[in-house]
Amino acid sequence: MAVRYSLILSGGRILDPPTGRDEVTDIGILDGKIVEVGRNLDTSRAQDAIDLSGKWVIPGVIDPHVHVSSWIGDYPGLRMMASEGVITALDMAGPPESVFTNVKEHGSGMHIACLDAFTQGESTEKSIERRIASALEGGAIGVKILGGHYPLSPEVTARIIGEAKRQGCYVAFHAGTIRAGSNLEGMREAIQLSDGNPLHLAHINSYCRGYVKDPLLETYEALQLLKGAPHVWSESYVNVFNGTSGKCVNGQIQSQVTRTCCRVGGFSEDEAGLGKAIREGFGHVTKMKGGVNVLVTGEEGYLYWREQNTDVTLSFPVNLLPVQISLASAKDSNGSFIVDAFSTDGGGIPRNTMVRHALNLVRLGVLTPLEMAYKVSTRAAEMLGLKSKGTLSVGADADVTVLDPEQGKACLGIASGRIIMVEGRVVGTGGTIITMVKGLEKVKEWGLPVKTMDPAEALPRKLKKGGGV
Ligand SMILES: [Zn+2]
Repeated sequence: MAVRYSLILSGGRILDPPTGRDEVTDIGILDGKIVEVGRNLDTSRAQDAIDLSGKWVIPGVIDPHVHVSSWIGDYPGLRMMASEGVITALDMAGPPESVFTNVKEHGSGMHIACLDAFTQGESTEKSIERRIASALEGGAIGVKILGGHYPLSPEVTARIIGEAKRQGCYVAFHAGTIRAGSNLEGMREAIQLSDGNPLHLAHINSYCRGYVKDPLLETYEALQLLKGAPHVWSESYVNVFNGTSGKCVNGQIQSQVTRTCCRVGGFSEDEAGLGKAIREGFGHVTKMKGGVNVLVTGEEGYLYWREQNTDVTLSFPVNLLPVQISLASAKDSNGSFIVDAFSTDGGGIPRNTMVRHALNLVRLGVLTPLEMAYKVSTRAAEMLGLKSKGTLSVGADADVTVLDPEQGKACLGIASGRIIMVEGRVVGTGGTIITMVKGLEKVKEWGLPVKTMDPAEALPRKLKKGGGV
């Protein structure tokens, strides 16, 4: 008999948010697609079959906010994500060529899309137009405004968001301008500056750290702001650590976020204060050890920060758990999640705990299993306009994450029908680049599989359809 499936996943509990399916059944895969979902698929007609009794099977996890470029996070992030069950991710800073090179040389078999950071420089309409056009030709699916770290003027920020819409690309914003900080005021301003244009507002948890008023009041207001801004997509992460830059020039800390962390930790907002914050165990430095990045602090962290001439990624324990749980679970009166998706802001920053913490929230009864699958995959697929992802329906990409509910973590990762992770061990290599048609020519130079996304299906789509399970 002819082979009908390259792989059968049998006997797992299938959780498929778009269809509401929650049952023990089998999935048949062929040519990178899901070709059948149903009971008792014939394993004698499959090249490979895996018994998933007792396991949960969800659409491949999508992390809409990671860092895997040489600038932030770097290549270890590709393995670190895959080992935690992530199948698709959006790099939130670029530069694209560095992300693509990392995928080619150190890839873990995942699907990767990339934004190009808009830090400073271009400010006129013409130069912003050119900057965005060149980002897209370079293979990015859009741009990221790093306002919280490297603030631009409110006018330039608004111009970038408007121009992104005009060029039909993705735009994400870490709130903050020269007028408002990376806090609740910055978030308020960000929504005003978006002026009804589609926008991915990054890590809502970052604006609820108690810098403006009580953190729970900030959380309440952040949720109200999002309810009043249906054109704004958002994500939040569940982890106590943030991620920022340790870079100092002439004794001055370059990132506004890092300055704020020093201040709230009781340290001076300069190079000396930052050094003290690291030495005393408040600032944690990202350092590569044994092929993955880990956080180190104290004397070891301090020495590494010095060795690297201060140009390292830093993390501070500034996210509060009650805030994270509220943002993760809050719904509007229609039953739709107010913050669309989970993220990590991880990748190479050692914080890829999305699946583990989502499962913790299921254990606590904060989310149902289907809601968990929705927030770690389906909603992010909608946000990125990835129509063939975020579901386990027939015809969808065979991107699957298998969870071990006993152990509370991912135990198997499948990207386009290929196994990339088994019990935390990454076996995938290379990867697929997701780009726009405009970036196709450039991305092909890396010789990796490429998928195009239709920007018209991405950010603007929220206006048409609310989210819920
Ligand atoms: Zn980030």
